Amino acid sequence: MKGSRLALPLIMVAALLTVISLLPGSCADQILTVEEAAMDEAREAMVSLLKAYGIRDEKVINAMRKVRRHKFLPEGYLSRDAYGDHPLPIGHGQTISQPYIVAYMTEKISPKQGEKVLEIGTGSGYQAAVLAELGADVYSIEIVPELASHSIDALAREGFKCTVKWGDGYQGWPEHAPFSVIIVTCAPEELPQELVEQLADGGRMILPLGEAHYQRLMILRKQGEKIVTEDDLPVRFVPMIKGSDPAH
Ligand code: SAH
Repeated sequence: MKGSRLALPLIMVAALLTVISLLPGSCADQILTVEEAAMDEAREAMVSLLKAYGIRDEKVINAMRKVRRHKFLPEGYLSRDAYGDHPLPIGHGQTISQPYIVAYMTEKISPKQGEKVLEIGTGSGYQAAVLAELGADVYSIEIVPELASHSIDALAREGFKCTVKWGDGYQGWPEHAPFSVIIVTCAPEELPQELVEQLADGGRMILPLGEAHYQRLMILRKQGEKIVTEDDLPVRFVPMIKGSDPAH
């Protein structure tokens, strides 16, 4: 009688422990949830800063709020400061652009739902994700093979459908041209003519143009045979690497 009275609570404790260990909200998960909550908060602070800096387009603001920048940092480069307004290293001497520049360039070219967009310099995949979040049909080219495969994985993990290839951006992507928007996130010294040719009539292109430490952000609009050029801001991007198409 005494034995069975003791056995029942013991069985109940054992059962409870088993249930706790099987629960999805285990200790490790709870720590992860706390970290994710901190990242959400940091992202919200980033959005407030973008607004204070003058980003106005609600759709762009919402995309910046939605896309989880920290999930695009390659393993070993994850930073607690993933939402600071500065570029971050992603390996191979490359960086993920400063959030303000990502938002600014996106706002300037303002891609619409279903528009075909070509990005040159996929890097982490973050800018491509922001464009996809706006509903654009995104194609992106990256010259560093490790970054091309990293971005393909990161975009898929975060649920974005973008078409990324390892290749040389100077060639553009003739099979999918023309593009309504072309966004270049590395700096060529001269305007790549192949890209201008792959721009649709009425299309727009944004790119940093110039030497390693002094570039201007340029916006081009194709109107029939005419190209209207706007010289916008001084910027600093990584150089656009010259070389033959590595995929061929
Ligand atoms: N848009 C990226 C930022 C990338 S930094 C992001 O959101 O993370 C610029 C990228 O351009 C680098 O990854 C670099 O490897 C790539 N790049 C440089 N020259 C290139 C070229 N000729 N063709 C394609 N990509 C190039």
